[in-house]
Amino acid sequence: TNQLSERILNMSTSATLAMAAKARELKEEGKDIIGLSLGEPDFNTPDYIKDAAIEAINENYNSYTPVDGYTELKQAVITKFKRDNNLTYTLPQIVVSTGAKQSLANVALVMLNQGDEVIIPCPYWVSYADIVKLAEGVPVEVKTSIDTDFKMTPAQLEAAITPKTKMIWFSSPCNPSGSLYSKEELEGLAKVLRNYPDIYVLSDEIYEHINYTTKGHISMAEIDGMFNNTITVNGVSKAFAMTGWRIGYIGAPDWIARACNKMQGQITSGANCIAQRATITALNESPSKVQFMIDEFKVRRDLILNLLGKIEGFKTNIPEGAFYVFPDVSFFFGKTLKGKTINSASDLSLFLLEEALVATVSGESFGNPNCIRISYAASQDQIKEAIKRIAEAVS
Ligand code: PLP
Repeated sequence: TNQLSERILNMSTSATLAMAAKARELKEEGKDIIGLSLGEPDFNTPDYIKDAAIEAINENYNSYTPVDGYTELKQAVITKFKRDNNLTYTLPQIVVSTGAKQSLANVALVMLNQGDEVIIPCPYWVSYADIVKLAEGVPVEVKTSIDTDFKMTPAQLEAAITPKTKMIWFSSPCNPSGSLYSKEELEGLAKVLRNYPDIYVLSDEIYEHINYTTKGHISMAEIDGMFNNTITVNGVSKAFAMTGWRIGYIGAPDWIARACNKMQGQITSGANCIAQRATITALNESPSKVQFMIDEFKVRRDLILNLLGKIEGFKTNIPEGAFYVFPDVSFFFGKTLKGKTINSASDLSLFLLEEALVATVSGESFGNPNCIRISYAASQDQIKEAIKRIAEAVS
């Protein structure tokens, strides 16, 4: 391995994928593992979207697409941004990519020079820090806790800004905490940012539709003065149960979108043509068509909060979106469970895998070492059984 680049040697392996691999290994040994580690809806892609893909195959959509996506798809993205977010983008401001993950990587590679700082409120989605580092940027973690519902305050943002700050990356609804920034909270952050016109915000809104509140979703780009300094990232993986189709997109100032187009043109070209055709349908249809999945996630959220609330040591916030709970489990640190000493969230997560046969992910890789992430994108029966086993294991 000493022939490999420092770039790859310095990169950490995605913790969520690593946990999934370990759980799979135990499953293959015959163990009855309940997997609550992955960020993936357990629904099938809805039929109306599948039909659009089948039609695209039969109509011989098989050639390279424009690098930044079919015009028809970019038009559907524009329609979606207007309909759902009150944002007015034009065609040159949209770039479609192979998942929001590629959108994030494009943005990092075109925006960051060596040493540029990117403020990332913790907890954050696992890949943010490594993507920033890949682009030679420096992640600057801003610690939050359950006491502020895991959200960054304007004062924390102001304190983290230095002359080297280039960007801020965050997700709302947040993976892993499920927290949602309200309009007032985004305005608070924007009030600070309006004094720094050279700082850009990457607003990851991939969980937009998975929102359990009546206050709706607010985009950072909607906030006064923020449109020209915000890159809005979204995609179809989560709300449309299309993780494997790999389609994400951005709306951004056109000079940033043009640069992403150029970057993608040298690395991967346009995203998969069939998935793009299916996404046109997914975005043009009303989001109410996928509401049944969100309703079910809400029932599961209430179920898991209720069950976890009965176990001493699992302190949770009330997640308002996404499909994760992120309990603070520091109560267990220093304690011995079934002969095993628990000193960290990783120890507890491993203990739960081995003793309760439930796969979760340690908060360490999300920038919060006191918590573990439990996904409730699983059936109600699986959730009940998993939490029962966890309760037994830690009792
Ligand atoms: N952003 C966040 C916050 C996510 O949780 C994920 C997936 O887990 C992604 C981006 C990447 O999504 P995609 O499947 O579109 O690459």
